[in-house]
Amino acid sequence: MGKLTIIDHPLVQHKVTMLRNVDTGYKEFRELVEEIATLICFEATRDLPTTETTVETPICAAKGRLIEKKLGVVPVLRAGIGMVSGMLNLLPTAKVGHLGMYRDPDTLQPVTYFCKLPKDAKEREIFIIDPMLATGGTADAAIKYLKSQGITAIKLLCLIAAPEGVKKIQTEHPEIDIYTAAYDSHLDSHGYIIPGLGDAGDRLFGTK
Ligand code: URA
Repeated sequence: MGKLTIIDHPLVQHKVTMLRNVDTGYKEFRELVEEIATLICFEATRDLPTTETTVETPICAAKGRLIEKKLGVVPVLRAGIGMVSGMLNLLPTAKVGHLGMYRDPDTLQPVTYFCKLPKDAKEREIFIIDPMLATGGTADAAIKYLKSQGITAIKLLCLIAAPEGVKKIQTEHPEIDIYTAAYDSHLDSHGYIIPGLGDAGDRLFGTK
């Protein structure tokens, strides 16, 4: 079973609390999403393998460790875009793929409308980013799509997860680790996370 990591760090919890606040405007909301994404990225990369090396300091040779694994970040459009800059703060050489999916408001089923991945995506460890893990339908479809492209090393990073979404991913993709800043109570009848933060895309882009 993939592990669920809830990042219970005071900085993360402070920022998530501000993010939830209905009075937080889109400028601050964007900044907070970027900052939290960076902090989640730090945790989600903790187990990356490193290779021992030596480096010349101005004084002498020193032992060092470098990450050799190639990395990729795949935001699920549209809200995932808000987390990209935060990821790239720590992973500046990661390639970025895009997966366009939206949830049909009536069926709540994911619909794919765009996909552009790096050519060498299957050699990379891929971090799927999407702020809200609600029903898990979109994340499940995104993971299935990446797997169909031969990608095997996948982690899922979100800001707020609902138990329903976590269960869906753990059932469908038991090898995949999930990282989140908050684990909320449940979904309402429209698929919104309770207490959540509302519609992440609208709050990021000021579209409501
Ligand atoms: N997507 C959102 O933006 N918010 C939710 O609460 C659930 C899905």
